[in-house]
Amino acid sequence: MNRSLIFSGWILAGLLGLCQTGLADEAAKIPTCMIVDDPSPFFNMRSLKDTNVCHEIPTSFYAEFGQWAAQNGVKGKFSVVPCLGGINPIDGSLGEYPGHTREERLAWIAMIKEWIAPRFTITPEVITHWYVWDIAAKRLNAGPQTENNWLAAQPLAVQTEYIAEAMRMLKNAGIEAGGLTMCWSYPKEKNATLGEATVRAAEKVLGLKYVMVFNDPGEQPEVIYRGDDGATAVSLHPAVTDVYDHTFGKKTEQDILQDADRYITADGQRGLFVEQIKKGKCLIFYTHAQSLYGNGAKSGFRVFQMAVERLNRHYGNRIEWMTGLEICRKFCPPPR
Ligand SMILES: [Zn+2]
Repeated sequence: MNRSLIFSGWILAGLLGLCQTGLADEAAKIPTCMIVDDPSPFFNMRSLKDTNVCHEIPTSFYAEFGQWAAQNGVKGKFSVVPCLGGINPIDGSLGEYPGHTREERLAWIAMIKEWIAPRFTITPEVITHWYVWDIAAKRLNAGPQTENNWLAAQPLAVQTEYIAEAMRMLKNAGIEAGGLTMCWSYPKEKNATLGEATVRAAEKVLGLKYVMVFNDPGEQPEVIYRGDDGATAVSLHPAVTDVYDHTFGKKTEQDILQDADRYITADGQRGLFVEQIKKGKCLIFYTHAQSLYGNGAKSGFRVFQMAVERLNRHYGNRIEWMTGLEICRKFCPPPR
């Protein structure tokens, strides 16, 4: 095949939104990324609709997680829901969170900047992770529609403005977003629109032309939108799921061991992490703040501590921890 054919094939692949199908170099390290969904100052996302779980997750727990990530080389994507439940925006523009002082809110933000932002791409998880936020009136619309369902039915301009407002709330709090995580589900058939809205919102608020999106699972990052001007949105596409039922606590030592084994056995031979490494593409896995916190027992965190220790011990020389944006760029480089 001559060079022009190769070149036109490359252009075609670009037009089709395809990325590198794998890592060409067999010896290349497997990009590895941990996704944490649903963090927000103080409040446990699950408690919005479930009174059986603790109402809050302490700031000290997130700091403990961030310190563990730093000690173990872990990198990834970490959500900050900018106005969880419509209770109050993180920037303090409508007052303080109930039961918390300004100093406590600022300490939460400082914790994110010190322990999380250096190792994780931060994204809003739309605005409230609940009902729709009325941007003009600056208040929560009473349901029943949740923002993911509402957003998917809106024209591009409205989606863009809504996502821009989420990024603006974080920016006003001193936290820079690198893309978007969609709360619950948004039809993946509309990923191109979601990608376009996200990158145009990021361009407007942060001057970014390249963003990551987490909406749906998959085997590797893929371009979901690329504009004529090169503006690009890449979907992260994790393949390995959470141990979500730790959210409700009540886990035994046996449960914790079994769940760690589900990711990677003590001998490093089996488990979902190992299967992904054997495929030779990437290892992207996700969890939630409330799963890690385990309703106060930190049982989900113990599962991941055990699994990551095994992963690093057995495959430390085969993997390379990356932030959400780094792994997207690795598979889907920005156009030059
Ligand atoms: Zn979520």
